[in-house]
Amino acid sequence: MKGIMQSWPLTVNKLIEHANHVNPTREIVTRRVEGHIERTTYRDIYIMAKQVSNALIDDGIGLGDRIATLAWNSERHMATWYGAMGIGAILHTVNPRLHPDHIAWIVNHAEDKVLILDKTFLPIIESIREKLTSVKRFVIYADDDTMPDNTLGAVAFDTWVRARPAEARWGDFPEDTACGLCYTSGTTGNPKGVVYSHRSNLLHTFIALNKDALGIGTQDSVMPVVPMFHANAWGLAFACPAVGSKIVMPGAQMDGASIYELLTVEKVSFTAAVPTVWLMLMTHLQENDLKLPHLNKVVIGGSALPERILRAFEEDYDVEVIHAWGMTETSPLGTLGTLPADLAEADLDQRIQHKLKQGRPPFGVELRIADDEGQTLQHDGKVSGRLLVRGAAIAAGYFRGDGGDVLDGRGFFDTGDVATLDEQCTMQITDRAKDVIKSGGEWISSIEIENIAVGHPKVANAAAIGVYHPKWDERPLLIIEPVKDEPPTREDVLAELEGKIAKWWTPDDVVFVDAIPLGATGKINKLALREQFKDYKLSTA
Ligand code: AMP
Repeated sequence: MKGIMQSWPLTVNKLIEHANHVNPTREIVTRRVEGHIERTTYRDIYIMAKQVSNALIDDGIGLGDRIATLAWNSERHMATWYGAMGIGAILHTVNPRLHPDHIAWIVNHAEDKVLILDKTFLPIIESIREKLTSVKRFVIYADDDTMPDNTLGAVAFDTWVRARPAEARWGDFPEDTACGLCYTSGTTGNPKGVVYSHRSNLLHTFIALNKDALGIGTQDSVMPVVPMFHANAWGLAFACPAVGSKIVMPGAQMDGASIYELLTVEKVSFTAAVPTVWLMLMTHLQENDLKLPHLNKVVIGGSALPERILRAFEEDYDVEVIHAWGMTETSPLGTLGTLPADLAEADLDQRIQHKLKQGRPPFGVELRIADDEGQTLQHDGKVSGRLLVRGAAIAAGYFRGDGGDVLDGRGFFDTGDVATLDEQCTMQITDRAKDVIKSGGEWISSIEIENIAVGHPKVANAAAIGVYHPKWDERPLLIIEPVKDEPPTREDVLAELEGKIAKWWTPDDVVFVDAIPLGATGKINKLALREQFKDYKLSTA
């Protein structure tokens, strides 16, 4: 017997429709690329999104067509998402920090028909224009006054949508229809496309709104610093309209001073970004002796959370840190470091130690660890293995079947991360499978060495990689980017590690570089480092 309840397809247009009905006047604040602040509301976004739908329909776009954006977080970008997804087109967020040739490859692979960009990225697209084989229409986020000269034959976004009807049929398709496309960073081989469905995005929104996940509400002023092109701004462009929180979009300016200004003026209570952004903010706060009176919670993820950022937020600024782990393939929230009940009363140091781990899966996400043969390993917080994930918003494969069959016999996806899980399912990443340093058949966690090294005040960034050793196969080489004007010595760095890691984990050499290369999502580019140091001869070799 079937249940006798209404059918209410889980399609994302319902989110912005709800915001328009229930929180129409709640503000969306954007720092435009021109630098000024633009104030709009959920109702404005709803209307703009309907106009985008009509502009797309008039351009011949329909179900399953791909629309690319190369854009910062803004109200126009958000309206584009809902306008495209509402009519069953697939919104493809392209990461503008990728190499232009990669961007061309991705846009062609996706066969994007429309490409909408911020003018900051005009030089990139003009440089690859000839290579783009599928794009029929270029749109630039601008109005008549701010439209730049260009060789794309592009139209200004405001002109493109203006005067279009605010009526369009939305959600007229099954809930498992594709709605979003995002390519993985592709550190090995070609990038692969993750195809989100309406249903998975809506379920991910319910997951995100869990009090032990992001847990935002209508009274929050939320600033997604994490870009919408980086794993869907961690779900915030969907979660905020669901509850009607105010949204503050930082646009292109993510330096410490600009972020601080928005945090203060817009009374931001909740924000999210990768550690690099928070390092810049901390420097600004410390240099100018500033406080954060409005901010309650900050989500930090994308790469491991350095202890000094965690301590600064919690101890100096009284802001609750939620350490999060996820990936493009997990929509992206996979685990969150909110405190389990037995640590609610724990002292600060215990809470800090817990929060340095990546956290626990919310309902809707299942985790296990396994050995190379796929056998489940013990959840004892000690044994590490391949991290596998299954759930309501986890990829089952890639666009066009790239990468082949990615699920194991039980339907779990291999994350490529190596981790431990304890009996309460608290996860701690020990490495990326391909970054693990294999010394004499045993594994050394590069992340753990890096996390400790960046704890030294004279170290700006650190990367540990395995380099060839005739006896041990690989030994760790520690690469240090010093704080400007105050470089540490090799002994300073090694002293920082002493006693905190097993003796045999101690790097054989320490080298200093001007800058550690970062990839398109702000993570250390280990591939580039391995290439740079591939002929390095260890002093112990
Ligand atoms: P991406 O899909 O580009 O966001 O990359 C996902 C990968 O980033 C994960 O598989 C992890 O290796 C890494 N990552 C994400 N969050 C964290 C975190 N909190 N700590 C350590 N690594 C992380």
